[in-house]
Parts: sequence; structure tokens; C-alpha cells
Amino acid sequence: MNRDRRITKEELKVAVNEAYIKFKRNEEGRNACYIPYLANVNRELFGIAVCLPNGEIITAGDSNYRFGIESISKVATAILVLKEYGTETLLDMIGADATGMPFNSILAILLENEHPSTPLVNAGAISAASMVRPVGNSRGKWEAIRENIAELCAGELPLIEELYKSESVSNHSNRAIAWLLKSYDRIYDEPEMSLDLYTRQCSLGVTTKELSIMAATIACGGYNPVTKKELFSRRIAERTTSLIASVGFYERTGDWMYSAGIPAKSGVGGGILGILPGAFGIAAFSPPIDNAGNSVRAQLAIRHIMEQLNLHIFSGERALIVEDEKN
Ligand code: GLU
Repeated sequence: MNRDRRITKEELKVAVNEAYIKFKRNEEGRNACYIPYLANVNRELFGIAVCLPNGEIITAGDSNYRFGIESISKVATAILVLKEYGTETLLDMIGADATGMPFNSILAILLENEHPSTPLVNAGAISAASMVRPVGNSRGKWEAIRENIAELCAGELPLIEELYKSESVSNHSNRAIAWLLKSYDRIYDEPEMSLDLYTRQCSLGVTTKELSIMAATIACGGYNPVTKKELFSRRIAERTTSLIASVGFYERTGDWMYSAGIPAKSGVGGGILGILPGAFGIAAFSPPIDNAGNSVRAQLAIRHIMEQLNLHIFSGERALIVEDEKN
């Protein structure tokens, strides 16, 4: 029995354009207001990009606009730490459990028995930043973080200085998290330095197109289809996708996986990155977010594309994007 589902590039393009037109005027959600810079980004911006295993990128809307990567940077640093320490050590030092709670939950740390849970929530991400090598060397760590994200996205990401300043003066709850973790020996370097690295990585500017390349690299088992470089192992790719599938949308992850059927990670800057293993990496961006911190238009767009093309990851079929007409 053939378990491959063939989708033509044309069908994918039509679904992407349809999603863009359908949700462009959606007025739900509000820009993140707890970080002053994000509150002032133009709420009308909306971009979609899909990167295929051959490196081709299908786009719609503002896919070249640079915005704050925010929590999506957690995925990149998780990959870096997985490369540096291996999959078992990450499980032991941080964990891989869904918290079912908001991204900056302190309660989650207490309920998880003083454990950061997963590198994809704030606690685990600050912990991951503390693990990045060379430990004790802030500048060396920052270079490693930036270089890793640049390789994943096939381009240097600039630091949005204004966003970095804006976050640094308003990240009080993240500071509380860093010191709480320190008291549980879950910060593996200096807490203030680890917090600063985390804040800086969140303030990198990324485009929707670049995010789709990062997503495609994970979807292709560690192979960046644009630079044609093997960046990490299949094992790391599968573990990263597992982390994303279990907690990428924080307390809304279950609803998202159930309905959209694609492991995806959001950021409060309005970006979302989704991974359909073996098929493509997708990204969407629009600043207004819902009360769990997930972009409204980006969610609607990705879910629409998945539904239109019947691509649910648990459908029992493997999606293949092909050039020729479907027969
Ligand atoms: N920098 C943000 C914070 O730590 C990231 C949150 C997110 O994107 O979910 O509060």
C-alpha cells in the first residue's frame, strides 16, 4: 500500500497565497506589551515562507521583514547544547517534559521538582544558555550562539539593539527564574551572564524566510538545504522536533498539535516555525499574539495550509512535495 502523499509545488503555492489573503485582514490579538519595543511594531505586518528540501522557498507577504526572534531562539540554542553535550545529558541536566504552563512559569519549576523541564521554556532556555561552551566566557558563548543561529538560518542575524535594551530593563521575572534555578543547581554558569545571553539571543532580528530555512534544516535531519551543509545529526533533529511537538505552544501545545498537526514553536515577537519532517520547514510572522503568546495570523495561516493539503503529521501518510502534476 502506498503511504506517500504527493503534493505539487503549485498546490503548496496556492495554499500559501490563499492563507495570506484569507488572514491578512484578521484583527484579533495584540502585540506583546510587556516588552516595550514589541508593543510598537507595525501590527499589520504578515509574512509566510515554506522552505523545501531542495532549498527552494515559497513566500507570501512581508517575508523579508526583520523582527525579534524571541522564543524561537530557544530551538537554536537547544540544538547547540545537544551538539555539545549529547541527547542523554540534555535530558538529565534540563529535561524534555512539557510544562503545560505559560512560558515564564515559576510554578512549573517548582512542580517539576526544581527542574527546568525543557530548553523550550524560559527556565530551560536560561539553563541551556548557561551550558553553552566555553563555560565562564561570556564573549565566547555569545559567538557560539550567534554562529549556530547563522548556520541554521543561512545568514548572519543582527542584534536589534533597541529590543535588547527594552528586554533588559523589563526582564524581572526571567531574573527571578535564573536565580531560582541557581538555588537548585540548575544554572551551570554565572546566573546574570546566562540571563543576559538568553535576553540577547531573544533580541536577534530574523526574517520569516530565514526561519523557514531553520525549520527546513530540522525537517531535513540536520541538513541545511540552502547552504547544503550537514549541521547536526538525524538524532538531534528528531529530538529537537520532539521537544517542539511537546511544548512549542506552551499551554496551548495540545490544542495546536491536535488541530494543525505540525510541531511548531512560537515567539512573542509574532514568529512561528513549523517542521513537517522530510517534507518542508514553514514559518509565518505577524505581531498580534493571543493570550498564550502565539501569533494569531501566523497560527491561522499555518493551520490553513496544513488543513487544505491534508498534511497532518499523524495522518499515516508521508507528504512528498513534487514538481509534476498530481495523478
Ligand atoms: N524574551 C521573551 C521572554 O523571555 C521570550 C518569550 C517568548 O517568546 O515566548 O519573556
